[in-house]
Amino acid sequence: MDRKINLKARSLKELELLFKKRKEPSYRAGQLFVWIWKKGIEDISLYTNFSKRLREYLKANFYVGKLSLRACFNSEDGSVKYVFERENGERIESVFIPCKERRTVCVSTQVGCPLGCSFCATGKMGIKDNLSGWEIADQVLQIARHQNVRVSNVVFMGMGEPFLNWENVKRAIFILNSNFGMNIGSRKMTISTAGIIPGIYSLADFSPGVRLAVSLNSAIQEKREKIMPIAKKYSLSELKRAIEFYYERKHRMVTLEYVLINSFNTAKEDFLALKKFSKNIKVKINLIPFNPVKDVPFLAPSKNEIARFYKWCLSLPCSVNIRESRGRDVRGACGQLAIV
Ligand code: SAH
Ligand code: SF4
Repeated sequence: MDRKINLKARSLKELELLFKKRKEPSYRAGQLFVWIWKKGIEDISLYTNFSKRLREYLKANFYVGKLSLRACFNSEDGSVKYVFERENGERIESVFIPCKERRTVCVSTQVGCPLGCSFCATGKMGIKDNLSGWEIADQVLQIARHQNVRVSNVVFMGMGEPFLNWENVKRAIFILNSNFGMNIGSRKMTISTAGIIPGIYSLADFSPGVRLAVSLNSAIQEKREKIMPIAKKYSLSELKRAIEFYYERKHRMVTLEYVLINSFNTAKEDFLALKKFSKNIKVKINLIPFNPVKDVPFLAPSKNEIARFYKWCLSLPCSVNIRESRGRDVRGACGQLAIV
């Protein structure tokens, strides 16, 4: 049986301890981290600033793991959906989204999602497992290498609810943000949550200052509960307070994501509720036309419906965008990520 330990799963501090035990200088940990996370090289034989003896020792006891790339699908719009396999055979999906000067990777944080929002394909899967920190960060590394680009932005908007796997998401943020790692600025990272209130408070106190997006989808309590069961646990009024708190701490605008669902949340009363919810908080609004999902009884909104809601929103004192999802033709768009 292979009993080697995966060095990629070790934090910088743990690597320092490892070298300390070997009576090696602690800067070796930084050098190793650079090989793994900056240069993205898994073959220990190539770590040429280590002595041959040290390399032999590492090779005998450790390995550098990675997610295996199983498939990738190129969308007509330039985005690419990736399917990765974990060491235990489970599969996850990530999306590469190039746009002007940005090269964004959308990462998964869980295998499936326990929150079961009724409009979301990932929610239909249920939850299989949490991803570990290195597996979350490795999606970015593997895509950067495959595309041969420097990734500029990371959004935690793939499969799963980031705040239900917060410790591992924090580990991934450290790797992505570190000078020894991928050196991606924390302001270039966004966590999207279905509204897990303790997570929002924790993010408000978390340094580095990662951006926050909240999936609102309806500002009417009963309606929100119908499509997002978690809304029963965390009410809209608590959600609003948490958003205010985050802004007070971080002085960063929060994005409200609003999936426009045909004849469900696009009427005038829905807009008025959104207007009331967004009053006196520093937000911007992203309208996301619903992407069709198998076995989901909702329909995409019509062009007129989108235009009408958007026009109403233009009267609000905040910025509003329609975010046409990328990668719809390869099932890589918002809410379409699911392994079937
Ligand atoms: N669990 C987190 C992050 C992953 S979902 C969250 O819910 O925020 C990422 C985004 O996709 C959310 O804003 C969600 O509302 C949106 N989404 C889910 N299903 C969708 C669908 N079928 N069409 C369009 N957007 C969808
Ligand atoms: Fe989970 Fe987000 Fe999908 Fe809801 S929308 S089921 S929270 S991934």
